[in-house]
Amino acid sequence: MEARQTIHLTRIKDQPITYERREAAWPKRHRVRSTANGCTDGWKHCRRSAGWGETGVRRLALTKEDKEGVLLVKSWMEEAGLQTRIDAFGNLIGRLEGADPAAPVLMLGSHIDSQPYGGRFDGAIGVLGALEAVQTLIEDGVMPGMAVEVAAFCDEEGCRFNKGLFGVRGLTGRLEEGELDRADADGITRRQALEAFGCTPDPEAFAASQYPAASVAAYLELHIEQGPVLEALEQPVGIVTGIAGPLWLTVELTGFAGHAGSVPMLLRQDALVGTAKIIAGLNALAGEEPGAPTVGTVGSLNVFPNSRNIIPERVSFTVDLRDIDLERREAIELRLRRLIDETAQAHGLTVTIREDTNSEPRYCAPWIKALLREQGRAMGLEAPELMSGPFHDALAMSYFCDYGMIFVRSRKGISHNPEEYSSPEDIALGAQLLYRAARRIIESRKEERLCAT
Ligand SMILES: [Zn+2]
Repeated sequence: MEARQTIHLTRIKDQPITYERREAAWPKRHRVRSTANGCTDGWKHCRRSAGWGETGVRRLALTKEDKEGVLLVKSWMEEAGLQTRIDAFGNLIGRLEGADPAAPVLMLGSHIDSQPYGGRFDGAIGVLGALEAVQTLIEDGVMPGMAVEVAAFCDEEGCRFNKGLFGVRGLTGRLEEGELDRADADGITRRQALEAFGCTPDPEAFAASQYPAASVAAYLELHIEQGPVLEALEQPVGIVTGIAGPLWLTVELTGFAGHAGSVPMLLRQDALVGTAKIIAGLNALAGEEPGAPTVGTVGSLNVFPNSRNIIPERVSFTVDLRDIDLERREAIELRLRRLIDETAQAHGLTVTIREDTNSEPRYCAPWIKALLREQGRAMGLEAPELMSGPFHDALAMSYFCDYGMIFVRSRKGISHNPEEYSSPEDIALGAQLLYRAARRIIESRKEERLCAT
């Protein structure tokens, strides 16, 4: 018996996506702490989030749909007893005041914007899990010494303006020159989109929304894994060791075009044959160390002149190389560059390599990992440790304060796709771990202060 309310929020290629809310089917909410007693459902907020889309979500940053989502979450924050605000960067922040309002805050959060053809769980479980955790703190009568904030950061995904982590970089003072002038596919600039969202994108408002250094004590983020590791290990929840920064290269090989029917094999300068050898080489290099999380991908190729009876003269291709161990990534990069040179020589090709992005891996704070391990054990979880290949809001926060992340098992590792799925039971365990870690941080700060006085 499910009472379904259908909401049409958006369309993809003129095909309506049906959003169903199964309010009547939601179980009576249980508190986070009750999940410790074997009751693992009752995630009011997360279930509501799932109700945004049974098959998919298209909630592009700073659109009408995004605003609807932000206002809905804002109303839930207020229902829970938090003070809310939407800052100049479009971030939604809910605050539970602490006994000492000037003390550095504990921040929990993630994002609710999505990819154009996205799933229900990416980002949303981090925001709603954080809200659930804070609401449980309130219901448990925990009086935090420090304020606790729940953040739904603006435009994590970056698909609309081709640059992500906007809100969190704004809040932590890491925006780059010209970001407001970036335009979407319809020519709308980020400045215009922020204004339409109700924000004031001017330097003064930005300065007022920016957090001063050392104003955040720690940041915790709950997120779906978006990969298959936890499922393979049959574990519902994992502890993130760090976020692997990608190395992005664009490689261009140039040979010489000729007729596919007349140029003998030995005389060819075929740029695509060289490229094929490099792609296979990168694949082998990245997979060389068993158990290492290194990943290497060539995801895009441009072949010129791209004709079946002409020997390819020029090929440009992308390289995406990631590893949590920067030394190992750099060693592989060196060997890849050597392979590119040797291949070019063997096939009479010239090479240019452009570096597009070179981000370093950002590690979770050892003390937060230890805390998550300890709290996970207390819940009877094994919680394996794993790195994050994708970036998250936590990546930007890592330059600002200590951070920790909890991953929840993703079915078949699928994400950025309406098929994305994590079970309510797994999400409940992840959110419970988030709650326990947050509570422990609040209590330990209190103990520290008591010891200091
Ligand atoms: Zn995400």
